[in-house]
Amino acid sequence: MKTNHRIPLISPPQAKADILHLLHARDELQQHLFHSARQVRQQAGMALVKLRGVIEISNYCQKACGYCAIRPQNCTLERFRMDTDTIIAVAHDIASEGITTVFLQSGQDPKVDDIVCEAIPAIRELGVEVLLNLGEKSLSTYERYAAAGAGSYILKFETADPILHQQVICSPLSERLQCAEWIKQAGMQLGTGNIIGLPNQTVESVAEDILLALRMAPDFVSSSPFIPNEHTPLQDHPHGSLELTLNAIAVCRLLFPHALIPAVSALEKLEPDGQLRGLNAGANVMTINFTPKDLRDSYAIYSQGRFVVKLDHAHNTIARAGLTPGRPQPDVYLQKPANPMCGQTLDQLFPTRGTA
Ligand code: SF4
Repeated sequence: MKTNHRIPLISPPQAKADILHLLHARDELQQHLFHSARQVRQQAGMALVKLRGVIEISNYCQKACGYCAIRPQNCTLERFRMDTDTIIAVAHDIASEGITTVFLQSGQDPKVDDIVCEAIPAIRELGVEVLLNLGEKSLSTYERYAAAGAGSYILKFETADPILHQQVICSPLSERLQCAEWIKQAGMQLGTGNIIGLPNQTVESVAEDILLALRMAPDFVSSSPFIPNEHTPLQDHPHGSLELTLNAIAVCRLLFPHALIPAVSALEKLEPDGQLRGLNAGANVMTINFTPKDLRDSYAIYSQGRFVVKLDHAHNTIARAGLTPGRPQPDVYLQKPANPMCGQTLDQLFPTRGTA
């Protein structure tokens, strides 16, 4: 179908205005945006959907993020920390399903550092890669993880607005950005991203999030809708917009052709088939939860009634998106320059973008 809609150029002088225009897209323009994102994903060799198996290894945390029930002020939560043997046993379950990324996630809990460093080499022996999301650490701790065999680390900045960041995350944005630098310096791939729907966050602020992500040059990037969580200061704040989150995913795909971009479980929490819509907006990762059931209910990072992604749901969703699970293979010939902010226009990079 031919349309008159044009995805605007995203070039340095215009970037913010162009991103804002796309974040506001609805109806036919939004469908065209999603179509362009899928085309970019395909052309970049990123149309296979990467499966990750997550193990939530501790719900102790030093931080106090206003949206998260794992914050230490929540006395209703039963706390747990897995031992090394349990982590390795669950990682074995992940590998036996043919999933090649074991994703260890926890609150910011210093007591997991030794446990994780002991577990990583044994997990690597299963023939899988290790992805971590354990919070803000010192450079030397990131170097320990990398030396143990971790290949990548997710540290979301959540919002690029330093005032909002301080209000919601209760620590300076600059500290998180410093940690992101250290993750790269330690030799791990970096994943980052934002939350959409925080109090007083504007669409313009979301555009700033995407521009910050561009400056950070991550290997993975994500957008997640805010989900109100019981026993937190933001429990009565409305959830984030699904449409805005999907548009942010699609814009990220245009700007990061070769990135891993997840269709997060919070999309499914907002709407049945939310993750399918995420894949249709250009995402290419699904994370399957392998945390043992008795502990999973205490991992309240999103909400007590969170949507827990199982293997059959992921396979079903991927098939309905017309995609296949696998390890995306970036087309190296398209990799340089991958970023339209380098001065190329989307027309130059993706000449077919005018069709839908
Ligand atoms: S979002 Fe992460 S760092 Fe913040 S309180 Fe929750 S578990 Fe801790």
